[in-house]
Amino acid sequence: MKIVCLDLEGVLVPEIWIAFAEATGIEALRRTTRDEPDYDKLMKYRLDILAEKGLGLPQIQKVIAGLSPLEGAKAFLDGLREQYQVVILSDTFYEFAKPLMEQLGMPTLFCHRLEADATGKLVNYHLRMPDQKRAAVKAFQGLNFKCIAAGDSYNDTAMLGQAEAGILMHPPENVIREFPQYPVARDYDTLRRYIDEAAARI
Ligand SMILES: [Mg+2]
Repeated sequence: MKIVCLDLEGVLVPEIWIAFAEATGIEALRRTTRDEPDYDKLMKYRLDILAEKGLGLPQIQKVIAGLSPLEGAKAFLDGLREQYQVVILSDTFYEFAKPLMEQLGMPTLFCHRLEADATGKLVNYHLRMPDQKRAAVKAFQGLNFKCIAAGDSYNDTAMLGQAEAGILMHPPENVIREFPQYPVARDYDTLRRYIDEAAARI
């Protein structure tokens, strides 16, 4: 029995914070972990900006509902789910991802949580656990599943390494250089082919 574990942002949907910054014109929200390596500082900075702009959860979800999954993502995912159990492992937040997940047919998503107050203002964030992508793959293996994992970036490499087969999808050049052991897909047909080949092999 095999489970396909997919990263979300950069694989099925655009980078949500970046797309949200573009949709709202709030330049300050383009700041990422590359600019501020302290994730806690970065998240508090983001939540402060949202509060400053008067953007609570309902307004945020309305903006994100205007974003779309990457072209071809829904068809790819639908086809994949006919053949395999698929779980999306992401470091985003349920509240942020929801409008995009609805467009993808609500596949199973393991991620983190934002906390809103009664007015919808986001007051905090909660990481479910550290290193959750790798931990999920390891837990599935403990349930006697074999895992094929695909992701685009550094935060995916631990799950790619833990899985029986790892694939890079849409990765930046530096990730390709540092992790030459993984095949690289740049479109959904190729990704699907690599998944099927891995499934036949493991
Ligand atoms: Mg990603």
